[in-house]
Amino acid sequence: MYKAFLLKYAEIGLKGKNRNVFENALRDQVQFTLARLGEYHVVREQGRIFVECPDGFDYDETVDALKTVFGVWGICPVVVIESTDWEEITTGTGRYIEQFYEDKNFTFKVEAKRASKQYPITSPEICARMGEYLLHRFPEMKVDVHNPKVRVHVEVRTKTYVYSQIIPGPGGMPVGTGGKAMLLLSGGIDSPVAGYMIAKRGVAIEATYFHAPPYTSERAKQKVVDLARIISAYTGPIRLHVVNFTDIQLYIYETCPHEELTIIMRRYMMRIAEHFAKKDGCLGLITGESIGQVASQTMQSLNATNAVCELPVFRPVIGFDKQEIVAVAEKIGTFETSIEPFEDCCTIFVAKHPVTKPVLSAIEKSEKLLAERMDELVRTAVETTEVIWISTNG
Ligand code: ATP
Ligand code: MG
Repeated sequence: MYKAFLLKYAEIGLKGKNRNVFENALRDQVQFTLARLGEYHVVREQGRIFVECPDGFDYDETVDALKTVFGVWGICPVVVIESTDWEEITTGTGRYIEQFYEDKNFTFKVEAKRASKQYPITSPEICARMGEYLLHRFPEMKVDVHNPKVRVHVEVRTKTYVYSQIIPGPGGMPVGTGGKAMLLLSGGIDSPVAGYMIAKRGVAIEATYFHAPPYTSERAKQKVVDLARIISAYTGPIRLHVVNFTDIQLYIYETCPHEELTIIMRRYMMRIAEHFAKKDGCLGLITGESIGQVASQTMQSLNATNAVCELPVFRPVIGFDKQEIVAVAEKIGTFETSIEPFEDCCTIFVAKHPVTKPVLSAIEKSEKLLAERMDELVRTAVETTEVIWISTNG
């Protein structure tokens, strides 16, 4: 029944002079996302984006893909009537209502637009005449101009477009319009959600994962790759850096007080992630930290970790409870993968009684004990980092 989609966007409409940039970015992102499904024709037009679908396209697949494009507020499946003849417009619209709404017991309002003033029927007239036609054809339907259940949109251009459904999109801003940031991506529940949330604001994402073989298995790494692939459906392609962290962890383990292990480890993760971030032009770091969730996420611990970073660290789930994070993870499809039981490196080297209120000067003092070999270990870790290109478009 449908041959096209009209995409509505909310927030980018507010962008004044930059509006063009945002609209083009959204069009490009829609084009990119649909490219793997077929040859869709995507055009920008008067505050919205039209997607014309190829013959034989799959409706559900197309809607699911559009639901991953940040910046899309609503997805309207459109019936295209290949004519501007009034008779055909009314029968076409009637046929659409007939097929789509099994139960016709609802209130409605017609909203009309004509692209050209040359079209002989004005917009208010289109509304009135179409309303009359529908009331006559479907007596159960009732008009309510203030608070209708269904808004029947009729747009007359070179062809006529009819739609009444709005499927919610993900909202947010088109990816790439807000620069780029480096996500510290573990195999847990929180960090994929954090990456999704920042990407939703238009920020492109790279990622760094700290791998500690043989303490963490190949499966743990595969889980992170899988998570990156799931979020890349929203964020676009991700350069994933897999850092071999084993020697650094062992050295900290052998050298520093065990209750400080996690904090010191986290500080080295931040340093190395920031190194790649700066190298690749990222303007911030992203973590899945949430205040009080574990010992390394108290205010004192967050301060101690933060102290090594020059770039801003974005922690979008900082004020979320676990259930709230899980709700997002379920919505975006990462939860099932995140709960697969493969240890990430932190869970192996955790002390029985980690400090919950680390004092920065004490941590810095402990790190001095690492002076002899740490620079070299960090250099080696950076040099041997594996970079994996992750994209849903192959
Ligand atoms: P998550 O569910 O994201 O793993 P978590 O609750 O397990 O988080 P921590 O282990 O304290 O919390 O990690 C806090 C944050 O540090 C993570 O959200 C992630 O951003 C980063 N992080 C932790 N471990 C790793 C790792 N092995 N590789 C990359 N980043 C990591
Ligand atoms: Mg974790």
